[in-house]
Formats: sequence, C-alpha cells, structure tokens
Amino acid sequence: MASAPQPLDHATFTNSFVTELLGDPSRENVPRQVPGYHYSPVQPTAVADPHLLAWSEDLAATLGLPRPPERGPAVELLAGNRVAPTMQPYAARYGGHQFGNWAGQLGDGRAISLGEMRAVDGSRWELQLKGAGPTPYSRRADGRAVLRSSIREFLCSEAMHHLGVPTTRALSLAGTGDEVVRDMFYNGNARPEPGAVVCRVAPSFVRFGNFQILLAHQELDNLRQLADYVLRHHFPELGEPSEAVYTQWFAEICRRTAVMVAHWMTVGFVHGVMNTDNMSILGLTIDYGPYGWLEPYEPGWTPNTTDFSTYRYAFGQQPRVALWNLMQLAQALSPLVTDATAALRPALDLYAATFNQTRQAMLLRKLGLTPHPDGQPDYALTEALHAALETSEADMTLFFRRLSHLVPALLAEPEGNAAAFQSLIEEVSYNPQGAVHTPLLEWLERYMQRLRQETAEPEAIRAGMLAANPKYVLRNYLAQQAIEAAEAGDLTDLERLYHVLKTPFDEHPAYEDLAAKRPEWAREKPGSATLSCSS
Ligand code: AMP
Ligand code: MG
Repeated sequence: MASAPQPLDHATFTNSFVTELLGDPSRENVPRQVPGYHYSPVQPTAVADPHLLAWSEDLAATLGLPRPPERGPAVELLAGNRVAPTMQPYAARYGGHQFGNWAGQLGDGRAISLGEMRAVDGSRWELQLKGAGPTPYSRRADGRAVLRSSIREFLCSEAMHHLGVPTTRALSLAGTGDEVVRDMFYNGNARPEPGAVVCRVAPSFVRFGNFQILLAHQELDNLRQLADYVLRHHFPELGEPSEAVYTQWFAEICRRTAVMVAHWMTVGFVHGVMNTDNMSILGLTIDYGPYGWLEPYEPGWTPNTTDFSTYRYAFGQQPRVALWNLMQLAQALSPLVTDATAALRPALDLYAATFNQTRQAMLLRKLGLTPHPDGQPDYALTEALHAALETSEADMTLFFRRLSHLVPALLAEPEGNAAAFQSLIEEVSYNPQGAVHTPLLEWLERYMQRLRQETAEPEAIRAGMLAANPKYVLRNYLAQQAIEAAEAGDLTDLERLYHVLKTPFDEHPAYEDLAAKRPEWAREKPGSATLSCSS
C-alpha cells in the first residue's frame, strides 16, 4: 500500500547550492556587498499571522505534498516562520543589466531559498520564499512583498505552466497578517497594503546575472565553479565540464531561451522587466512583476510604467532583448573557453533560427495548418497576420479561439464567408470603425485558400486548433479584480480565475465572463493596464 503523503514540515531537504558553492561567512543581515561568494546564508524573518490563501494542487501532487490546513506548521514554513531542521536557507548573489545598464550587485533581496526537495518521480526542486524578509541583498528595500504582486505571481506562473510555457512554479500563497508600505506608482502616495509570501518552485533559480557578477569582479574560479555546478545538476546530459561542454551548454541555453520567448509571443505575454537578472539559466519564465497580457494586438505595448520612456521591454521587442541578454551572458561565460567568439557566436545564430522556427510552428498549429514543404509562403501568411491583427486592434486570444470554432463552418461553404468574417472581427476587435478591418478581412480570405489545402477532416482541424488556442488567459483587469476582492478578504474571484487557468483550453461554460473582451473601463485603469516595477 502506498504510504500517505508526508506534510511539508516533515519533508527532508537537500542543499546542493549551499554545500557545493561558496557561502559568505558573515551572518550580518544588513545590505552590503558580498564579493568572493556565491550566496549568503540567511534566515527568513517571521510574520504575524501566517495563513494559507492559495495552494497549487497540481504542483503539490508532483512534489507528493498534501494540502496543509489554513494555519499550522506547514504554512508557518511557507511563510518563513519555521525552518525545517534539514533546510539551509540562503540568498543568492547576482548582478545584472537593468534597462540596458550594468547595475552591479543585485541579488536575492526579497527571495530566500529554503533547500531542495525530491518529487515523486525522483527529480529535485528548489523551494524559494518570495517576500520572506531582508537579506544582505535587500539594498534600500524591505525584503517584503505585497498581496497584490504575490497574487499576480502565484496565478501567472501557474497559468503559464498550464499553457505549456516553460516557467518557474508557485506552490503556495500565504497571507502574513502584516502590512507593507508601498508607493505603487512612485508618485508620493505610499499606503499600507497587506503582505504575502509566495513559495515558488523550480529546479534552480540561477540567472544570467549570477555569472555576470562573477565576471564583473574577475572571480574566475567562482565563475567556473558555478558553471560546473549548474552543468552537473541541471544539464547532466551534456557530460563532464570541458571547453566543448561549456560551448554546447551555452548553445542549449540559447535554444531554451528561444523556445521560451516563442511561447511568450504566441500567447501574448509581456514580461515587462527583461533585465539580465530576470533571465533564468534554465530557460524558464522567472520573476513575475509588471508583466501583462496583450488585449488589442499591439507590438509596442508594455504594462510597465517604468519603461514608458523607451519601451525597451514592449511585447514586440522581447525576441531582440532576449538575444541582447544572451550576448551579455556570452560575455560573462567567455573566460571558460579559449576563443569565445568562435565558441559562443554560433549559439547566438542558433537562438535566432530556433526562435523563428518555433514561433512559426506554433502559429501554424494555432491556425490549423500543417507545415508546407516550402515554408516561405506560410511565413508570408503569418507575417501578414501580425500586421492585420495590429491594424484591427484585435484581441489576440479571442481571435484565435473564435477562428478555431468557425473553421468547420467556413470549410463547408466554398463561397461567401464575408459575413462570418465580418462578425468574427466585430466580436474580437477593440476598434468599431469598419474601414480599418480591410487588411484582416483580406488576410482571412488568403487564409481560407491555404486552409483548403489541408487534408484532415474539418472537425479534426478544429480540435487541433482548440488545443492550441486557449480560451482563458490571465487578463490584466481580471487579475486586478481578483486582487481587489482578496484585499477586502474575499477569495472567490481568485479561486474562480485560478480554476479556469488550470485548464485554459477547456470551455468551462459557467465561466464565460472570464473569457470576455476587456471592458472599456479597464482600458487605462492602474493595475489593470499599467504597473510599476515596485509591484
Ligand atoms: P526585480 O526588478 O523585481 O527583478 O528586482 C530587482 C532587484 O531588486 C533584485 O535584486 C530584487 O531582489 C530587489 N528587490 C525588489 N524588491 C525588493 C524588496 N521589496 N526588498 C528587497 N529587495 C527587493
Ligand atoms: Mg528580479
């Protein structure tokens, strides 16, 4: 008989990052530079009233954990009030380029890793608390997180996982019973907000910036040690570290990053702060802050008010920015190989090729098309779609979902789809002026010609499209509504939203309101349309 799952407070943790890398000998928990080390041991700071607000059953099943009661030892552990005997908590030292400028040491200023636990399948996962109190890397801030940003991280990282996007996960959301003061828009209107802690989970939280800080300080032995640690634990298939293996490793990081960004571009996700300290070495989406989801298809859109002068991290910039970030990583890894240009340059080309191929394959799947032996005309077709969606101010998620449902009817009628196209556009566009929709109408005619070349049954095409085009994404205003209700003590909206985001390709007829077009009032509403880095 299988044994009952062990609660989290009885789990055994390992601490490979701590035992295999260099730890800061100082225990002084004040903001300071930590040259010479990979991390600083640090204990979480207790909160007033740790209580469970949300729990990922899906991730918990992977880890073999039962849902804990609202209050008790497991939740105390998830909020930082209790540390299991086998845990060796730490904050990692890293640096990074912020908005294109080298920012020096950053580090885990409000994240504390607890240790690694073994999942049911034997794999190892690191548990990290976000908002668990100050560390030597907290600089001028408090090490805390507000409920608003913690709900956003919890919901979005789980939603991304269920959409098939590589991402860090979230196990739990715990309220702290403490207040945290934040000036949400940096406009002098600081106010107390409820605090929270998210327990996020990933094989590793190492970022590009962990390597960059070591190059910046010319800590080349530490650089090699960190590279070898990451290789042995997270890329064992590449073999024992050597110059050739470092080269292959960088290529694999480029490949994974390309796949991740291709996913973002096909679901309409805008990360919002693609600084190099927010880029995972495993190619996972990490650090959910002022992110957003496209509503009208607009490559120039970003939700991040901090980025309103340059739009560096706008939706359409993401593929280019990821490449720039990979170039900074190549620089950081260059001491590991004799001829860095020869060893690392080809991987940057691989990034571009992988991104283009992956995004195209995903788009064709969304459109119900099988790749044509001569891909060029299909590239022209998908390129034209981006432009037409933008001109029509079409809601990306709704467009693909409604199109999926329409396909069998469209294929049944060899002529006269014009009325169906018109009403599709009316349903998904944020612009009521008929004249702007000519490019999208023309595109739909072109698409139908191409679709008619497919040999599969119309119903099979529809099923394939519905499995590629989610009905539910974390619309910005829906997240904000769930946050406002949760701040007032009502978790119903949060739970409804989380419910559909776990199976975003299913219809859920009782939840149509969560798949609707953004209402007009939400267009400019702070929190719904705009966010700052302090979120
Ligand atoms: P982010 O823009 O959220 O990726 O954060 C950039 C840096 O600021 C990282 O080193 C974070 O750890 C740090 N940071 C952000 N918010 C806080 C906070 N409330 N307390 C301490 N450090 C923070
Ligand atoms: Mg960060």
